[in-house]
Amino acid sequence: MLTPPEVGEDPRISQPMHELSIANAIIDQVTEALRDEGDAAVSVVRVRIGAWSGVVAEALDFAWTAATPGSRVEGSQLEIEKIPGAAWCPRCQKEVELEDLVLRCPVCGESTPRLLRGMEMQILNVELNDEQQAAHP
Ligand SMILES: [Zn+2]
Repeated sequence: MLTPPEVGEDPRISQPMHELSIANAIIDQVTEALRDEGDAAVSVVRVRIGAWSGVVAEALDFAWTAATPGSRVEGSQLEIEKIPGAAWCPRCQKEVELEDLVLRCPVCGESTPRLLRGMEMQILNVELNDEQQAAHP
């Protein structure tokens, strides 16, 4: 059972349902991808999450612990690769890495409406216990 956090404590974990539904979606996709892999236990599930994806890595990790028991990936570890946001700066004429969740160039301060990276939310691969074999969903 998932114990709901105290309302109003940490704004990052005040909406655990969002990450929980994402965790369930990942579990569904991995389960589907492993349909022909027999019943080898899953040791690691790797995902890539952009800073602008709206997914909080820590909350997803927490949701993973809550969502995986009884599923195909029970006992597996969720490895999260975080991708920082990057945008095109029209003044610098180059790609700049965003420091915060603000669409503004950290070098010159120009607004950078064109986001190039950071919206990722994808499953990279899955590691199985037996043969360290990777499946690509
Ligand atoms: Zn700039």
